[in-house]
Amino acid sequence: MAKRDYYEILGVAKGSTEKELKKAYRKLAIKYHPDKNPDDKGAEGKFKEAAEAYEVLNNPDKRARYDQYGHAGLEGGGFGGGGFGGGGMNMDDIFSQFGDIFGSAFGGGGFSGSRGGRRRSRGSNLRVRVKLTLDEIANGVEKKIKVKRLVIADGITHKTCTHCNGSGQTVQIVNTPLGRMQTSSTCPVCNGVGKIIDSRPPGSDANGMIHKEDTVSIKIPAGVEDGMQLSVSGKGNYAPVDGIAGDLIVLIEEIPHESLKRDGKNLHHDLFISYPDAALGANPEIETLSSKVKIKLEPGIQSGKLLRLRGKGLPSVESYGTGDLLIHVNVWTPQELNKEQRMFFEAQREESNFHPDPDKNNKSFFDRVKEMFQ
Ligand code: ZN
Repeated sequence: MAKRDYYEILGVAKGSTEKELKKAYRKLAIKYHPDKNPDDKGAEGKFKEAAEAYEVLNNPDKRARYDQYGHAGLEGGGFGGGGFGGGGMNMDDIFSQFGDIFGSAFGGGGFSGSRGGRRRSRGSNLRVRVKLTLDEIANGVEKKIKVKRLVIADGITHKTCTHCNGSGQTVQIVNTPLGRMQTSSTCPVCNGVGKIIDSRPPGSDANGMIHKEDTVSIKIPAGVEDGMQLSVSGKGNYAPVDGIAGDLIVLIEEIPHESLKRDGKNLHHDLFISYPDAALGANPEIETLSSKVKIKLEPGIQSGKLLRLRGKGLPSVESYGTGDLLIHVNVWTPQELNKEQRMFFEAQREESNFHPDPDKNNKSFFDRVKEMFQ
């Protein structure tokens, strides 16, 4: 099914301000709130759709990408903390990210009904490093990563917090000259959750948590760079009791390639050729990321010549287009000559044809630099 336009979903103009976006989203979120529309799948869909649209348009980076490329600009893993992965947002994400939006509409404490006034705590983020070869970066890759997550131990039992009677809030009555005032604050015993641990299995920590090995599958989009971070929503540590999980932050590490050097989208290769190949011309084979390519070297090619294989670089993760492979030609000077070779070169030393003539059919250094940045 084709995705609807985010601006259309929220019913706002393309140039709308942050305030207008928030207002439009709040209206929809209240209209389709699950507490108001119990067991209504249509309303739930609209509720999620609006949250997704707001999540993107309220983030300047994502909004810029969406404005430029539409939905396609946001595909491929979700950078910088979003991470829809194509599946839309789940209810926990929506409530944890945008809970404040509903605040005043649903009686100050958050959500009515089953959600009560309790607060859901959020687990901490987990960090892992993933090493990728340039080949994997060129094509994008799915990696299965083993992580040790904090999860709630099996067999744990909870009981209602007696300090706040399960409300998560403690209420204080204060006498003031204006009369009795009621103030409420987060329950210090259960941290606002409303429940505390009754019994926990051996081996679990004070919060009833244990470390559990889990395998997480991560789709890494093509073109990522060393040092980039991907965030996988909900795959971090769990929070105690009925909290929600944090994120898994994946740090990208690039394994250097044997013969190719990366510079953003472009790749560079230092090609060394012999004197005879330079003089006579040659067809050496160059290793690119996807295959081997034969290139043609014209007779008389000079050291420093730059050859460009278009589209043999890397895709960009942030924009369209693929970079180039730039081949830097170096003529290899023999370092030890035998008697015959020495005689040959000595005989040629005075030949005018062997005298350097840089102006002749060879571009200057600055022309080459210009060519490189075209
Ligand atoms: Zn409590």
